[in-house]
Amino acid sequence: NLSEKLDKAFHVLKGHGQITEINVAETLKEVRRALLDADVNFKIAKEFTNRVKEKALGQNVLTNLQPGQLMVKIVKDELTELMGGDAEEVDLSGNPSVILMSGLQGSGKTTFSGKLASYLKSKKSKKPLLVACDVYRPAAIDQLHVVGEQIGVEVYSDRGNNDPVAIAKAGVKQAKSTGCNVVIIDTAGRLAVDEQMMTEIANIHKAITPQETLFVVDSMTGQDAVNTAKAFNDVLNFDGVILTKLDGDTRGGAAISIKSVVDKPIKFIGTGEKMEAIDVFYPSRMADRILGMGDVVSLVERAQEQFDEEQARKIQKKIAKNRFGFDDFLSQIQQIKKMGNMKDLMGMIPGAGKALKGLDIDDDAFKHIEAIIHSMTPEERSTPSKLNASRKKRIAMGSGRTVQEVNQLLKQFEQMSKMMKMMQGGGGKKMMQMMQN
Ligand code: GDP
Ligand code: MG
Repeated sequence: NLSEKLDKAFHVLKGHGQITEINVAETLKEVRRALLDADVNFKIAKEFTNRVKEKALGQNVLTNLQPGQLMVKIVKDELTELMGGDAEEVDLSGNPSVILMSGLQGSGKTTFSGKLASYLKSKKSKKPLLVACDVYRPAAIDQLHVVGEQIGVEVYSDRGNNDPVAIAKAGVKQAKSTGCNVVIIDTAGRLAVDEQMMTEIANIHKAITPQETLFVVDSMTGQDAVNTAKAFNDVLNFDGVILTKLDGDTRGGAAISIKSVVDKPIKFIGTGEKMEAIDVFYPSRMADRILGMGDVVSLVERAQEQFDEEQARKIQKKIAKNRFGFDDFLSQIQQIKKMGNMKDLMGMIPGAGKALKGLDIDDDAFKHIEAIIHSMTPEERSTPSKLNASRKKRIAMGSGRTVQEVNQLLKQFEQMSKMMKMMQGGGGKKMMQMMQN
């Protein structure tokens, strides 16, 4: 699952003061995987992560911003930029403004023509005319008429005519005579790119010189979308891309690939079969979608809320100076409990991670551990070596646990301190590698 993967990736970064070559590599590997999962072209995904790496490396993490959060921001900003930064709408300056649809059969041209007409009518107070230029299937003309009726927009068609160029021209003429200020030309597509289709759309394009030529593409076609976009762009030099069928569980990586290959803005997205299912394309929202950032950001935020970084630093220092005691252990446990979930916590203890997991402490065990620690004197807490047999017995009695349990806790504590120390010292690198596997 994607968000789990990213979760894991950003986890590695938590608790580190600076983004370094080591901790960034794992994260970017996951980001790249997320992009590939979302159907982003391999080469583009690689270039992208290289760019992010350059930006991220060596950036100092400010007090309240954890490296994970900083990475989230860098990745998101870069992705947004890649998809065009700001939202862009269609050019409506013509009178009438002529908008030509292009794309493969089934990509959603006819549906989107209706959606756009409806949008321009209700949101931009335009008077659109729909023109049916798909002359190959009689049902295509009917389909556009049904759509037009649904949204209350006029449709121009000519069933006896099988020349799409002539119909397109006649449609524009009709718009002028009936006072329509936008003409939307719906065309025929084929299942795959072929010469006849390209010639036909090129001829229509030449004959009516539209303000806006839009390339409609099914976002579920993934990698193929890139080749199709390129083929259409080579012939039409289109002005914008429409991504349809984003209502499914596709992540919309096609947006990135297409944008990278043809360098044209994505203008609208289709999110359903209904006429209202149209949205202006917002690059930053698409970045969220592609990376499942909503999840990641909230995870990082939750961790941030619960975990006091200052305290983590203090503890780290104590470990380094060999002064990590039971009080610190107790406060770690309290942090763990605030997180509400053992697993989340593991990665939060600086440097600990999987080492702690190996100790197999479950949530219930905390109650006993806390009881035992509470029965220790402050002196015993800070200097556990003082715990001799009679002290252990006293603590066991006080906490209602057995001496065996007290011994077990001491052993765990010792193991943990040892591991933490190891990770801080020269063995740190090796330990880090162990933990990350
Ligand atoms: P055209 O051949 O390019 O004109 O494609 P159509 O407009 O006829 O659409 C093909 C199919 O895709 C139809 O069944 C549409 O209802 C469906 N469709 C179009 N856009 C969307 C969309 O954004 N979401 C979903 N779920 N279906 C869509
Ligand atoms: Mg159609």
